[in-house]
Amino acid sequence: MKPEEKIIDYFTVLKSREIIGSSYIFIGGQFLIINRLIKLINCAENSQFCNQCWSCKRVDDGHHPDLLVVEPDPINIKFNQIREAIRFLSRRSFYSPKKILIIKDAQKLTDQAANLFLKTLEESPKNSFIGLVCSKLEDILPTIISRCRKIYLPYSKVKLAKSKEKIKSILRSGYFGPGKRKDFSLFLESLIILLHNQLKNDAGYNNNHEADSLTLDLNFKEAVIALEDLFKVYNAAGTVNINLALNLIKMRLRCN
Ligand SMILES: [Zn+2]
Repeated sequence: MKPEEKIIDYFTVLKSREIIGSSYIFIGGQFLIINRLIKLINCAENSQFCNQCWSCKRVDDGHHPDLLVVEPDPINIKFNQIREAIRFLSRRSFYSPKKILIIKDAQKLTDQAANLFLKTLEESPKNSFIGLVCSKLEDILPTIISRCRKIYLPYSKVKLAKSKEKIKSILRSGYFGPGKRKDFSLFLESLIILLHNQLKNDAGYNNNHEADSLTLDLNFKEAVIALEDLFKVYNAAGTVNINLALNLIKMRLRCN
């Protein structure tokens, strides 16, 4: 399965549980995926999206009344654009479960615009979905980052880099050994895949045979939170204190 399919899958699971969050940063800038997510969020179809319903068609033709996409004009995203976007979010939605605001090239928000936006991110209007899209997280103000859930395109291999038994024994021991950063990344990658599979199994999407999970003793919400934390650690795997991170993960996953 391609990485983007995993992301779509992940959101399909969130949608089925009605626990899609209100603010996300998508790192990687692949707008095609965002377009599919936009459809998924408001499609009448229960699982993914149908490409047939009124909402999906309006997304495709670029005239959805409950969707606003903000882009740099032309160099940066200005105060007035964000003020307009906040107004858009505060209005009632016309036809859809959620009002969707997408900010492309979010690293190009002026400081003024970003500061204006902070309060909206903190207390986003009910039934809204805000997606900031950027190529690199480092270019975004930390105050913005801290208010959003982060979605990376983290891995391309479905094949586990480490065996399930090896992963379990590392988790139980809480010790990774010194100077093995690349190995640690591979370990995290495998763990993300396993946890993701567990989420799919729990939600009844275990329709493929590659699905292999750790059968951890976590409820769905805990597993979602753990997965987001794993993404964070994975993204910082180049600098993080490995054994400290490992013990945090161990705690999150309740592995003893
Ligand atoms: Zn649809």
